[in-house]
Amino acid sequence: MAETFDDFLPEALRFTSPAPLVDIGANLTHESFARDLPAVLARARAARVTTLILTGTDREHAEQAVAMCREHGDAGLSLHATAGVHPHDASRWDAELAAAMAALQRQPEVVAVGECGLDFNRNFSSPTDQQRAFEGQLAIAAESGKPLFLHERDAGRRLREMLHAWRDDIGDAVVHCFTADRETLFGYLDLDLHIGLTGWLCDERRGHHLRELVGEIPAERLMVETDCPYLLPRNLPAKLKGRRHEPALLPWIVREIAHWRGESEAALAKSTSATARRFFRLPAA
Ligand SMILES: [Zn+2]
Repeated sequence: MAETFDDFLPEALRFTSPAPLVDIGANLTHESFARDLPAVLARARAARVTTLILTGTDREHAEQAVAMCREHGDAGLSLHATAGVHPHDASRWDAELAAAMAALQRQPEVVAVGECGLDFNRNFSSPTDQQRAFEGQLAIAAESGKPLFLHERDAGRRLREMLHAWRDDIGDAVVHCFTADRETLFGYLDLDLHIGLTGWLCDERRGHHLRELVGEIPAERLMVETDCPYLLPRNLPAKLKGRRHEPALLPWIVREIAHWRGESEAALAKSTSATARRFFRLPAA
């Protein structure tokens, strides 16, 4: 279905990907999308971002994401959800929540366990609580056979230790919004993990080191995401009303990553989509 852009995005921000894209991290249950979700989805279609994985960061958001998939998925847009408890909310983890999150994995819309992991940068939940909640979700991944959608900030070493202990029991796992250093990247690749890249490297202040690293990620391990509404690329060629990031802007990020990898935008669009389809076990496009 051909779709055209509405007036919300300025002309310079109406990107169309040369090949269909999968946005593996879209927080569309965020309140900032409540007012105009159908328009946001229509713009994603127009940009050829044809598959969205809606991030479920706690029980409530995961349930909302599942409902959103049922209501808004259609022939032109394939919607799927993840279901997990973010490390920020790890202190809420208990047996009842564990059972509810395991049950969510049985919904056909749910394609991964997560977002879960460790965040020792902010410690909104204590490191002990975070490790307990993550351990519980590793068990859910092992039992369900679903891939993991991981969040890590300043906790690369501990995350690797925990994944190492579980490596034979779990399947595929992606570290979403990778922003860490070379040693951490190679540690993840050694564990046969996948890497999710956002528009972080569009930020000339803090994404510099990533630009040199992105070429080291094998194509069959690399996927792309907006992490919207967060992480609006800083180098967009025009100003955006409200400064809220959205899936329609993913082609810009792909273009940037392709540039720093020294490959074409089309080649990267195709390889990241193929990797995402395999990773999340999505039906053929
Ligand atoms: Zn995250």
